[in-house]
Order: sequence, then structure tokens, then C-alpha cells
Amino acid sequence: MKVAFYKHNLDAVDKKNILKALNSYILTTGEVTAEFEKKFAKYLGNKYAVGLMSCTHALYLALVYFGVKEGDEVITTPLTYTATADAIEYCKAKPVFVDVEPDTGNINADLIEKAISKRTKVILPVHLFGQMVDMKKIRKIADKYNLAIVEDSAHCIEGKRDGVRPGHLGDIACFSFYATKNITCGEGGAISTNNEKIYNWFNKARSFGLTKDVIERMKMGIKQYDKVFLGFKSNLSNIQAALLLHQIDKIDQRLKRKEILAQKYEAGFRKIDKVRTFKKLKKAKHARYLYTIMVDPAIRESFMANLKERGIDTQVNYEPVTKLSYYKNKYGFKEGDFKIAEEIGSSVLSLPLYPKLKEKEINYIVRTIKELL
Ligand SMILES: *Cc1c(COP(=O)(O)O)cnc(C)c1O
Repeated sequence: MKVAFYKHNLDAVDKKNILKALNSYILTTGEVTAEFEKKFAKYLGNKYAVGLMSCTHALYLALVYFGVKEGDEVITTPLTYTATADAIEYCKAKPVFVDVEPDTGNINADLIEKAISKRTKVILPVHLFGQMVDMKKIRKIADKYNLAIVEDSAHCIEGKRDGVRPGHLGDIACFSFYATKNITCGEGGAISTNNEKIYNWFNKARSFGLTKDVIERMKMGIKQYDKVFLGFKSNLSNIQAALLLHQIDKIDQRLKRKEILAQKYEAGFRKIDKVRTFKKLKKAKHARYLYTIMVDPAIRESFMANLKERGIDTQVNYEPVTKLSYYKNKYGFKEGDFKIAEEIGSSVLSLPLYPKLKEKEINYIVRTIKELL
């Protein structure tokens, strides 16, 4: 049997929508993008959303909005994709890493306060694997020290904790529509916020900081636009948005399927001592972006190779960012600086999890893992 790590779930309606966009006059940001933004914000229960070219750029722009610059510090987690920390580096600010919780892999909110200095501007938590961080606790800390919160919500569109969803308590939540994310247009991203000022800024910032977007400029004819600040080129096109429209309609339906599959894994691994799993928080909705398990670090690499030999593709999410040469060399991190993140990072592997995955494929994966261990 061969089990792919990921399969997308685009259907006939998605294909119809993209054809419609291709047949329309405007291919760049326009009405389809606006329609998606409205839908996306509504799904999240937020007032606004702005479509962007990636989550990485969304994170970067969010930090720029809060004026993060050289000499500033941004608090984040080491257990994430490199993009999270990179956004801080782009601003020439310093990422201050805070270790994670052993049972969820999320940033340990109890350790954040100790990491705050006079230079701290923003807290940048990541809702790892689809499970939200403790936003209520983090908001309290942020308010006490007058800090902004930018959520890296690349793994978590559907998630909810204590009644809180991405963008509800954070100032800006950033999302990814990269090829493997829960909804995708190949490459793309967005922010969501409840702050009108932030919304207006992003609308301009994604198009060079110009006062008028393409549609307005077309309506105005030859009239000139003005530039009020140095913006960026980071807009989500109609073509990309067309692919997202129907996916957002079906997002909870797909999540239901992923939840069933995740619980099937869970039940299987309960009987295998050598597999450890992350804790699913009670009274919380898990967005189920990745299904990640932990094994003995000494065997992780050979174990993954053996799975591959038996047709099962897996992936490491993540070795801590602090172990990557760029960050390690620049900041001189040593082994043991982020104990829990390092322990998790050396033990984890993610298994296939997508709506098209079949029950019998999960049975095969669990059986194979049992045999190998
Ligand atoms: C995928 C991902 C990103 C980057 O998203 P892009 O849209 O590819 O820029 C950022 N943070 C995390 C945690 C991710 O998994």
C-alpha cells in the first residue's frame, strides 16, 4: 500500500469557480477577493479580513504595522515553521523564544512574562498543529505590558478555545493558504482583525501604500493616485480567491472527517506504548491541521525511513527554529536552551491526515507502526 502525506481536496465546484474567474476581466485583486474576504471574516466571527500573498508576508506586515524595528523584541515559540521567526528577522528585530508546553507543543503562556523586556513590542504565538494557545492568558499579559498580539494562525482556521477563535483576542491573526494547509489556493494568505484602522492600513499596505486600488483606479480613469506610505506588493488575486470560496463553505465538513480520522489514530495508538501523542484540550475545537506523534528520538530517523519503505510518507513538524544554523549561529543558542521544544522536536513525526485518507489506510499505518516498534 502507498499512502501519500497529503492530497488536496479540490472538487468540481472549485474548478468551475476558477474558470469563471479566468473568464472575467480582472485577474488581479477585485470582486472575488472581496467576496472571499467577507466570507472568511464571517466564518471566523471577525469584522474584517484582507487577502494577501502568503502568511509569511501577513506576519511581516503585521509586525511592520506595529512599528517593529531594529532594537525591538518579539516573543514567539521555537517550535514552529521558520516563517514565524523569519518575519521578525525581516524587521531586523530580535526573536525572543519562549519554551513550549510538553503536552500540546504550544508556547507556554506561563513563561511569557519572564521574557518581556523594555524592548518587547509584540507577542507572536502560533496555534500549533491546529490547537489554540491560551489566548485569554496571553491577552492579559499583553494588556499589562501594553503589547500587541499577532497570531500565527497558519494551522488554525477552524480552532476555538474557551469560546475564543483566531482574531478574537489577538490584534491581528495571520493565515496561510499554502498548498498543504486546511484550505488552499497553492500560495496565498490573509489577515483577520476587528480593528477598522488595521483593516484600512492592510488594504493599502498590500498595494504599495497607494490611496486607490486597481478597481478604483479603473473607475477614476486617468486620474492619478497618491502614495501615503511605503507599502508592499502582497495582494491576493481573484484567481486565488476563486479557489478559496467553496473551500470555506465546506471547511467544517472536511474538519469533521479529519476529526474522525484523527480519533481513529488516537484509538490505535492508545494500545502502542512506544507512541506518544499530543493532548487534545477539552472544551476546545482542534483545527486538525497535522496529526503528529512522538517516538524515541534515537530511532526517529530510521523509523521514518522504514515507514517510507512500506509506502507511508511522513514529515517532521518541527525541529525547533533555534536549532537551524541561521538562528543558532546568529544568537548562539545551545542545546538545552529550550528543553521541551528540543525534546519534542527530536521525537516528532507527522502522519498523513486529509479528508481523502481512507480508514483502511489508517489501519495500515497503525498496524505498520505497531510492527516496526
Ligand atoms: C505554513 C506556515 C507559515 C507560512 O505560510 P505561507 O503562506 O507559506 O507563507 C507560517 N507559519 C506556520 C506555522 C506555517 O505552518
